[in-house]
Amino acid sequence: MRIAIAGAGIGGLAAALSLHAAGFDDVTVHEADPRVRSLGFGLNILPNAVRELAELGLLDALDRRAVRTRELAMYNPHGNLVWREDRGLRAGYRWPQLSISRSHLVLVMAEEVRRRLGDGALVTDARLVGLGGSAGTGGTSATFTDRAGSPRTVRADLLIGADGIHSAVRAALHPGEGPPPANGMTILRGTAWGDPFLTGSSMAVLGDDRRRLVLYPIETDRSTGRTLINWVAALPDADTDTDTDADGTDGRTPVLRHFGGWSPPGVDLARLLRDTPEVHRHPMADRDPLPRWTSGHVTLLGDAAHAMYPAGSNGATQSVIDARVLAAHLARHSEPGAALRAYEEERRPQMTELQRSNRSLGPERVITLAHHRAPGGFADVREVFGEEELAEISRGYAETGKFDQEWVNSRPSLSVRRRGAEK
Ligand SMILES: Cc1cc2nc3c(=O)[nH]c(=O)nc-3n(C[C@H](O)[C@H](O)[C@H](O)COP(=O)(O)OP(=O)(O)OC[C@H]3O[C@@H](n4cnc5c(N)ncnc54)[C@H](O)[C@@H]3O)c2cc1C
Repeated sequence: MRIAIAGAGIGGLAAALSLHAAGFDDVTVHEADPRVRSLGFGLNILPNAVRELAELGLLDALDRRAVRTRELAMYNPHGNLVWREDRGLRAGYRWPQLSISRSHLVLVMAEEVRRRLGDGALVTDARLVGLGGSAGTGGTSATFTDRAGSPRTVRADLLIGADGIHSAVRAALHPGEGPPPANGMTILRGTAWGDPFLTGSSMAVLGDDRRRLVLYPIETDRSTGRTLINWVAALPDADTDTDTDADGTDGRTPVLRHFGGWSPPGVDLARLLRDTPEVHRHPMADRDPLPRWTSGHVTLLGDAAHAMYPAGSNGATQSVIDARVLAAHLARHSEPGAALRAYEEERRPQMTELQRSNRSLGPERVITLAHHRAPGGFADVREVFGEEELAEISRGYAETGKFDQEWVNSRPSLSVRRRGAEK
């Protein structure tokens, strides 16, 4: 079976590797960029997806430049600890949670796609611009163009749209949907070397009912003991516009103004911002849940299917799970249409629920609640929350995303091999 994937991001590359592991050899990933690359900002990959990356044989390579996250700690603007919990191995998972540079993750996966499936399996400078043919049961075709605009038609038995939040495959399946809706918040982010904070492998989230600052290390320099710290700030658009262009800064000033007085524990924020070589900014956006991901032999995966607000470390995590579930269903079913239906039936309802949960900021909701209930801060968190309330929010979100410890540790493996595939 000939399988074409649009997009060499985390989802598309995970799909290629998962399909290869399931016994499909004719798989090609088409990437719009002239190079396979990703910005070096951080990602947290939750243990459910790390389990899948480990089953694909990637964990050692990823571990070489990553931090195994041990703790999540959330604070209000007064520096009061609202909630802390163990993460990854420390929380009893059999697989770690990884804080990792997304460029390292993408490069490791791309290298493995080339090594396992051949150099020709990864085609760059190939932007999908339209779907051709019928999306009926007889396969499909897609048109790609390079930077010069030269078109090329690719025929395949199956096309997977893993082309991100601005997906062209999604637009072809759902014409008229329009661009992703922004929510009035601006995301600013960067990385800089700094001293370890909290446990040295903690993720810290600070905020109130509108603002957020997230900090975690993604790499450790063993010779100096310093860590590469990833920071992400989310601020209302209006709070970032004025200073940015007026005083020639690129967003550091509003970040410092909003968060500098909060003293993130152990972090010298002013220095971290000063040492950040480049600040990247973009509007916060997601996608509305879709009524269907599949049409004939075309389906969607990752952000193309279910882009969600960045709360709870789930976007990339779930794109890896999509890839593994899709490959497992294709291995089990002889008819691709039936496999795509089974994939969508399993994944779409879960992802719809998760997208909705992330619109109320998923597990970070506890910070919003803390602000509403005690805007002036508190001496003891038990004055503000019932005994089990915070644990229940955390547990409920993990169950929604199916990354709770019990399920991840005990569920059957998604490594399924197609009948008749050579070893
Ligand atoms: C601030 C922030 C923090 C985040 N933190 C986390 C986190 O900690 N943990 C987590 O799990 N997730 C996180 N996410 C979400 C995560 O980044 C995305 O969910 C993830 O990158 C989705 O992967 P993808 O492969 O589906 O899409 P993408 O990573 O967007 O990849 C899509 C690929 O398709 C290519 N492409 C686009 N259009 C075309 C086309 N027409 N033809 C061919 N190729 C095309 C693109 O160039 C790109 O390479 C965060 C997101 C943000 C914004």
